Order: sequence, then C-alpha cells, then structure tokens
Amino acid sequence: MGHKIVILGGGTGGTLMANRLRRLYSREEADIAVVDKDDAHVYQPGLLFVPFGLAHAEDIVRPRHRQLHKGIAFHQTEIDRVELDENRVELADGTRLLYDVLVVATGARLAPEETEGLTGPGWMENVFTFYTPEGAAALHEALQRFDGGRLVVNIVDMPIKCPVAPIEFAFLADWYLGERGIRGRSEITLATPLDGCFTKPIASKHLTYLLEEKGIGLEVEFAAGEVDGPGGRLVSFDGREIPFDLLVTVPLHAGAEYVERSEGLGDSLGFVPTDPGTLQSLARPNVFALGDATNVPTSKAGSVTHFEGEILTENVRRFLAGEELDATYDGHANCFIETGFSKALLIDFNYETEPLPGRFPTGVGPMPLLKESRLNHLGKLMFQWMYWHMLLPGRDIPGIAPTMQMAGKHRAGQPV
Ligand SMILES: Cc1cc2nc3c(=O)[nH]c(=O)nc-3n(C[C@H](O)[C@H](O)[C@H](O)COP(=O)(O)OP(=O)(O)OC[C@H]3O[C@@H](n4cnc5c(N)ncnc54)[C@H](O)[C@@H]3O)c2cc1C
Repeated sequence: MGHKIVILGGGTGGTLMANRLRRLYSREEADIAVVDKDDAHVYQPGLLFVPFGLAHAEDIVRPRHRQLHKGIAFHQTEIDRVELDENRVELADGTRLLYDVLVVATGARLAPEETEGLTGPGWMENVFTFYTPEGAAALHEALQRFDGGRLVVNIVDMPIKCPVAPIEFAFLADWYLGERGIRGRSEITLATPLDGCFTKPIASKHLTYLLEEKGIGLEVEFAAGEVDGPGGRLVSFDGREIPFDLLVTVPLHAGAEYVERSEGLGDSLGFVPTDPGTLQSLARPNVFALGDATNVPTSKAGSVTHFEGEILTENVRRFLAGEELDATYDGHANCFIETGFSKALLIDFNYETEPLPGRFPTGVGPMPLLKESRLNHLGKLMFQWMYWHMLLPGRDIPGIAPTMQMAGKHRAGQPV
C-alpha cells in the first residue's frame, strides 16, 4: 500500500506541496489529499493593488481545485479537528482521513472581532481592511469617494501576513491621492505596534526615510485597543488617540480555529510550533507545517512558504524513507516593496541576516537590493505570472535558492 499524505489547506503552501509531492511519488507510491473550505484561491499580493484600481478582485482569484495536478484528491469542506494520537483528520462533512504524514498549511486567520469596536458601526463605511477581496473592493469605492482628510493605516498587532504590505499601502495612497489632486489636503499616518515601521532595523531605516520623504506620518509602539468608527477615533491601550476620516486596518491574525480544537497541535494563538530548520512540527514527528500556519521566526510571506516547500518536500520524502531530516531552512524571505510611482524596493533576508544592499539574484542579477527601482516594480508585477505558472505548480525558480545566498550582498559597503 502507498503512503497516505494529507495536506490541510489548499492555499499557497498546500497547493505547491501537493503538486511537488505528486511529482515525486507515483499514484501507487502515495495517496495525496488536500482539504480546503472553499474553491477560491486568491493571489493575496494582488490585494494591495485593488483599492487603487490597479487590479480587480475577480482577476486575482482562480478555482482552487484547478491549481492541483491530476491524481490529487480535493476535499472542499471545513477541517473540524486533528486527532494526533489516531493519525486522523475529522472533516466537517463527516469524512475521516487517515494519514502517515500530515502537512499543515492552513495559513493565518484574520480576527477583526478581537479589537473592540473594529467591526461595529463604521465597519465597511469608514473602516476597511484590504486583506480580504471584499474589503479591498469596498476600500476601492471608499477611496474614490475620499475627498481629503485623515487617512490612517493601522497594524493592530504582530504577527501579520506580509509585514511590508501596510507600508506599501501608505506609499501607494500617497501616489494615488497625488494623482487625484487631493494629496495637499490629506494626511496619511501609519500607526504600528512596532518600534519602527518594519520588523528589521536596517530595512526599517530605509523605509522610514521614504515615509518622511513622502510626508507620511509614523506612530510607533501604538497598540490599538479600540476603534470608534462613527467618532473617527483610533485609541491605543495606553490612551493615545489618532483621529481618522478613513481607517485602513490590518486586523489581529491568529491560526485556523480547528488548530485550537486539535489537542496538542497549536499554541495559544493557534499557530503550530514548528522546528525552524526542518519544518517538522513539535507536536508529532509525522506532522509538518509550512507557511503562515507555523510559528517560525520569519515573515509570513508567500516567498517564505515557497522556499519552505522546497525543503519540506525533501523532508517528507526523507521521513517516509526513514532518513535523517534536512535541517537547513534558514528563514529565507524575499519581498518586493511597492513604493509608488512605478518603483519598488527589494529585500532578501533570513533568520540571522538582515536585508543588505547589493544585487539580486546572486550578485549578477539585475535587481538592486534595498534601493528603489523600476525594475523591482516590474519584478513585483511579473511575480503574479510566476505565482500561477511556476510557484503553485511546484517548479523551482531558476537562480533562486531556498536558502539565502550571500553573493552580491554588501555589509557596510563591503562585498560579503
Ligand atoms: C494583502 C496581502 C499582501 C501580500 N503580499 C505578499 C507579497 O507581496 N509577497 C509575499 O511573499 N507574500 C505576500 N503576502 C502573504 C502571502 O499571501 C501568504 O504568506 C501566503 O499565501 C501563505 O501561504 P499559506 O499556504 O500559509 O496560507 P494561505 O495561502 O492563506 O492558505 C491557507 C488555506 O487554508 C484554508 N483553511 C484555513 N482554515 C481552514 C479550515 N478550518 N478548513 C479548511 N480550510 C482551511 C484557507 O481557506 C486557505 O486556502 C500577502 C498577503 C496579503 C494578505
């Protein structure tokens, strides 16, 4: 009998893992099943562009099952819970799936209801999030109606998916309001719980400089406790207030709810404690995790999920063959940061090494690191094609390794 591999979640990580494993094993060697609650796969980086009319919500969504290669079973239903001692997953439609290896790829869930007043009066009127297709589309309408005033972008708490996305939103809002001729009578403020605009100090310095250059205000160490939509007030736990006419929130993130119902699988936020090098869960040796669902200390990003997937495919193979796991995943992350006016910055980093200046990939590549350029902006746009045609089908991207490469990077002006 073949191995039974069950993958929870059919988003970025679940889809690319299923396709990579399907290529690795014949149908006789392994049964592969993917579970997801819906059939709409959203290209999430595209959500950033929807509020500004640069993309349409319907153009960044494709049927989920169509991204899975032939020979992968797709169960469209909620996951109820995982019974770790029985090697079994219970689905909401009553199906029970037994597994030899379980891959958790159920991402992060938005929990706006956890912040007082956030989803109360004003929600979807003058308070929006662009982190969902519906929210991004509604915010597009609101931005078209916006006639100047105070626009506040707020990160409620960390961790969040794509920690640069709110900064990118502020940059694009600066560009968009300028195009509409109302930038002069608008104030843009980014309010963050961090002590700088980004999690990594060197990149944070570069991004803070860009925020200042564009006249975007920055409120740091702002732990949002309450939203008063009708009164237009964002209030922190320590009593600071930021008035707004339009609030763009990035709500609290948590793991999937079934993780909390599955004894021993997750932590108090519903994320899965995971070995940062091998991506094996700490819950059981035959349970692995990747993407936003883990607690590994790197960004919650599609690039991370993709790099993890390359190493995790090999580790599933090694586990099933009784071999020692590869422990080399280093937290590699790679993000384009849209800065408006058809330019973007590129950063490349890992658990230990901060984003450094230089060129990407591997020093001979054309894209400058930590520097605005049009080429980086084109790279960001091209990434959507690569997502559907290379990343999800589980193909390697030529010249880009799953671990961070130091060639072409500079520390204090010196090549590394
Ligand atoms: C606005 C925005 C911009 C972004 N920009 C970038 C970017 O520029 N670059 C980048 O690298 N990353 C970016 N990201 C982050 C990137 O999209 C995610 O990190 C990536 O999709 C994570 O993949 P994942 O497989 O872990 O989770 P997901 O792709 O979110 O998949 C999780 C899946 O699990 C399913 N699921 C969850 N719970 C259940 C349940 N109980 N039952 C059944 N199914 C369930 C969900 O339906 C979903 O399909 C962005 C994200 C957002 C929101």
